[in-house]
Amino acid sequence: MKHFALCNKKLNTIMKKILTICFGFAILSSHAQKESVFKKDFTKPEATEVWEPKPKIVTPGMGTAPPSDAIVLFDGKSMDKWVMAKDESPSRWVLDKGVMTVKLGEGELQTKQKFGDCQLHVEFKIPADAKNSANRNNAGNSGVFLQERYEVQIFNSYQNETPLYANGQTGSIYKQVIPMANASSKPGEWDAFDIYYTAPRFRDNGSLEKPAFITLVHNGVLTLHHFEIHGTIQYIGIPKYELHDKASVRLQGHGSAVSFRNIWIREI
Ligand code: MG
Repeated sequence: MKHFALCNKKLNTIMKKILTICFGFAILSSHAQKESVFKKDFTKPEATEVWEPKPKIVTPGMGTAPPSDAIVLFDGKSMDKWVMAKDESPSRWVLDKGVMTVKLGEGELQTKQKFGDCQLHVEFKIPADAKNSANRNNAGNSGVFLQERYEVQIFNSYQNETPLYANGQTGSIYKQVIPMANASSKPGEWDAFDIYYTAPRFRDNGSLEKPAFITLVHNGVLTLHHFEIHGTIQYIGIPKYELHDKASVRLQGHGSAVSFRNIWIREI
């Protein structure tokens, strides 16, 4: 017992010495850093060169193919990454020839995985027989919901021929903003969205600290530039924020057999 107490005492002394040495090094290193900043000669180009950390290496995809670090959400082969939004059952949308299509009456599809800040690539096709009608039935109504709440609208908007409010056409954040340009393809042809999204931040008490922001490139055209999202999409009424965490990407099924292909996401 006495021997054990002696060992313990020795161990404590050694630990104290190690901590003192580490503390000393930390102070010295912090002093060194401060000194190096103060001693920088800003008349020299080296003074403003930052060498570390190096950014991670990502191999770009060819054309619209996913980059090496992307999570492929739909590659044309399987809908395994998706579930029905209403009950999280396996996807009942139609998978055919590398394309997945809204199955009428089945509602929305969402990713199993939850996301926050992201870069998202989605390709979609409004059916060739979509009507130029403000009536939602078969007018190409769908949408990409970020975090299950913030809809980037999809609707037949080709050449502005559809009689529809401008803040409800393709590329709008539904009923919040009119896109800066209409780059919509003809129904029956493919469109691409490239979305750059910053999720909202909430305080511990659930109040909004910072809203969500979105930049949208539609068929290569910048149509939303760092737009501040006003809150959860409302068909009637004013949008407002509700506390939430990471959430799914959701694709809207809304009375029109809109198709999707090549969907990938990068968490940022
Ligand atoms: Mg919609």
